[in-house]
Amino acid sequence: MTVDKQPLQQLEQNDAFIQRHIGPDQIDKQAMLAALGVDTLAQLIDQTVPQSIRLKQPLTLGDSMTEQDALATLKKMAAKNKVFKSYLGMGYHNTITPNVILRNVLENPGWYTAYTPYQPEISQGRLEGLLNFQQMIMDLTGMDLANASLLDEATAAAEAMTLCKRSNRKKTNSFFVAEDVHPQTIDVIKTRAEYFGFDIVVGNPYQDLAKHEVFGVLLQYPTTEGDIGDISTVIQAAQQQKAMTVVAADIMSLVLLKSPGELGADVVIGSAQRFGVPMGYGGPHAAFFATRDKLKRSTPGRIIGVSKDTRGQLALRMAMQTREQHIRREKATSNICTAQALLANMAGFYAVYHGPVGLKTIATRIHRLTGILAAGLEAKGVERVNKQYFDTITLKTADQTEAIYQRALAEQVNLRKVGEDKISIALDETTTAEDVQQLWSIILGTDHGQQLTVWDQQLADQGLAGITSAYQRSDAILTHPVFNQHHSETEMLRYLKQLENKDISLTHSMIPLGSCTMKLNATAEMIPVTWPEFSQIHPFAPKDQTVGYQEMLQQLADWLIEMTGYDALSHQPNSGAQGEYAGLLAISAYHKANGNAHRNVCLIPSSAHGTNPASASMLGMDVVIVDCDDNGNVDLADLAAKAEKYADKLSCIMITYPSTHGVYEEGVQEICRIVHQYGGQVYLDGANLNAQVGLTSPGFIGADVSHLNLHKTFCIPHGGGGPGMGPIGVKAHLAPYLPNHAVNPVDEALGNNGAVSAAPFGSASILPISWVYIALMGTEGMCQATEVAILNANYITEQLSAHYPVLYRGSNGRVAHECIIDLRPIKAEIGISEEDVAKRLMDFGFHAPTMSFPVPGTLMIEPTESESKAELDRFIDAMITIRQEINKVAAGEWQADNNPLVNAPHTLADITDAEWNRPYSREEAVFPLNWLKQQKVWPTTNRIDNVYGDRNLVCSCPATDTYRTE
Ligand SMILES: *Cc1c(COP(=O)(O)O)cnc(C)c1O
Repeated sequence: MTVDKQPLQQLEQNDAFIQRHIGPDQIDKQAMLAALGVDTLAQLIDQTVPQSIRLKQPLTLGDSMTEQDALATLKKMAAKNKVFKSYLGMGYHNTITPNVILRNVLENPGWYTAYTPYQPEISQGRLEGLLNFQQMIMDLTGMDLANASLLDEATAAAEAMTLCKRSNRKKTNSFFVAEDVHPQTIDVIKTRAEYFGFDIVVGNPYQDLAKHEVFGVLLQYPTTEGDIGDISTVIQAAQQQKAMTVVAADIMSLVLLKSPGELGADVVIGSAQRFGVPMGYGGPHAAFFATRDKLKRSTPGRIIGVSKDTRGQLALRMAMQTREQHIRREKATSNICTAQALLANMAGFYAVYHGPVGLKTIATRIHRLTGILAAGLEAKGVERVNKQYFDTITLKTADQTEAIYQRALAEQVNLRKVGEDKISIALDETTTAEDVQQLWSIILGTDHGQQLTVWDQQLADQGLAGITSAYQRSDAILTHPVFNQHHSETEMLRYLKQLENKDISLTHSMIPLGSCTMKLNATAEMIPVTWPEFSQIHPFAPKDQTVGYQEMLQQLADWLIEMTGYDALSHQPNSGAQGEYAGLLAISAYHKANGNAHRNVCLIPSSAHGTNPASASMLGMDVVIVDCDDNGNVDLADLAAKAEKYADKLSCIMITYPSTHGVYEEGVQEICRIVHQYGGQVYLDGANLNAQVGLTSPGFIGADVSHLNLHKTFCIPHGGGGPGMGPIGVKAHLAPYLPNHAVNPVDEALGNNGAVSAAPFGSASILPISWVYIALMGTEGMCQATEVAILNANYITEQLSAHYPVLYRGSNGRVAHECIIDLRPIKAEIGISEEDVAKRLMDFGFHAPTMSFPVPGTLMIEPTESESKAELDRFIDAMITIRQEINKVAAGEWQADNNPLVNAPHTLADITDAEWNRPYSREEAVFPLNWLKQQKVWPTTNRIDNVYGDRNLVCSCPATDTYRTE
């Protein structure tokens, strides 16, 4: 055909997104199918997915869009949001993300596509970033220890409440919450408390605390209205009755204020959002959690600790808490898995970039402008509620309240109405002198404001003293070298790059983590996240300013409902684990509404992810474990027996589909039937939805509720351990029990339902990622993605099965979207463990598959649809080479305690060491395959000693000179 005669339609399809998202092309697919002995993809799917659960109708997601069209459509939607200047405060503030951090971290796949640093030897960069975050939090809060992030301030407060209960011998179940804590925090606390059986007493801590016997107290510092009180008196009163005190603190104010640690707090929590992380209509942001040393073993979330590697060099890794859920399960201290690593890194870098002097300048400027604002208003006779303040003042505006509020809106300014007769104003890093003038004129009106519309130098010079010296901090903060070295942009850029270069992310190679679905996070999907129309909106902005968001949220919900076969969806949960919690909450509320509050037994198969039992116990449920059979399926006889035994008390079952063993259980509908028969509900963990979309669905299978890990199946990147989103889908009968929100209600129909997150739509600003993904893929693409995920997994399984035992397969010998290879026989016979294989893979430039979950001693491989055949083959080559190395150990050619596997990973320090007493060459150590000479990633530390680190828990930054000894 001549160039001139080609059909236009064909030419237009050239740059379809589907083929960019899906790794293998047509030729690759045919080759892979041939290797599997089938002719077509349809044939493979027929062999793999049980006929009984196959959808009868195709999805109705519409046609796939081009990247240009999808972004243009979303931009139009975004334009319906109104970006007003917000002074709403309540834990969310405007901030300036330093551009060097914006582009090189938030918008940089080297940072955002990394995984949680479970494999520390190739994660030292982000581990150092997170350690900086911990050090910064410890300094600012005055505490001994901090974790590397929780999901938001409200859930951090709830976690602190349960920590107080666990760590306190008092018999009482009452917890005191100061009435001037942010209202959304009180909402979330109340939700959590109900099923723990805690009584929440909300009151004035200065007057009411003594009247109650409580196990803990929560204070806000400064309060939600901006007041700085003498919290040390409350802390002392709490101590007298042996209650613990949690202080929810504003991170910027801590730069100037006496630290809660110094004032005697036991736990300090809060949000690090205003350290350079956009408000994003609610998130994602990192919450912090800091405690006393004596509480370190019961702190929730991930803690980065210092340990050493086999060369005795300092090296970082996640400390014991991290592995806690998988070990302690229903006895775990918390269900947190995915946290907010990327945002914690950003906040830490904000402090690194500004340093103690820069931060003081910022905090002082905010405070000075607040003082000037207050002075002007005071001079005009406006009464202020709080004498002491950092950046927030609350005014007694009486019958002028509504008029002022409306004047502000007319000038595109959001002020906070507190009740009917007060207005609260929170300034921030972006506030200028002109803004203060505008606020004067808004509040005073043109009549009174006239004199204040020009900058009054005398007023500015005087200001007002908002923080008496008794409340000012005198100790030094951020003295560690890392906070004092990288203040020029050049230095900062190089520091960020230097850290990034230590880590393996999807920019290097496939990350075949079973259950985690590390697929492509396309650039087009990421672009809208930092559009101001999405990123600069306060979560409590009036609804008529967020029309674009509502439209996007609704369309995304509709699409997700279509793919899951449910009837309703809540966007609120910030992670899979939070989704589990919200889903179980809906189940419990449903039972209660039907007069079945006593139903509290939760059946969980032994193969379940650790968050499942941990979430169930947060609802006060009794977890009963159901056995799995030799094929890894739920043992139906055991299930039936237990469902019957607990028939009166059965609340629900939590299952994962395809199972965590990576097979489509044939009996899944029977499981649903049995549980329903005994009055239970079915929670289907949606982490493996990547193996369902378009072929089957949880709703179709018969489940009642599921969470979806948008950071797995729907392309939100893992961020090195968060952010994530875990919306839940439910059948109609559970829809009335979805979470609402006390400050900014989601839906009138949800009435007084409690919140599970600080913001009504969770981390709303990353939802456009999933929106764009679905828009780009459409019905055809979403279905193909699932099919090719299955193809890729089966291809790997087929290629590796001659070399490693594959643990579980479905009835036709096929696996679902992932497979488990069993290293236990090899370990028993030859002494090489799954960990040795995982570490040796680093020498090939690969991140290990999921290790020892769900079966100890195994590796679970999930390639996803985004990896090409060439990449799969590289990984397969690496695995086969490793198997050959194992054979050499077996044959006695290499000693069991001196071979490339047990010595892995190999570093530059190893091969430049003058001494080399190993039975293999330096070249074999670092270039076991030829292509590595072109494509080498150097692990920066040798194998890290976990046990040493756990015994000697150090979670603060080491001094730089001890740090860089290499
Ligand atoms: C990832 C995962 C979870 C937890 O999700 P988070 O978002 O990390 O909280 C739960 N169940 C399974 C099977 C998972 O793979």
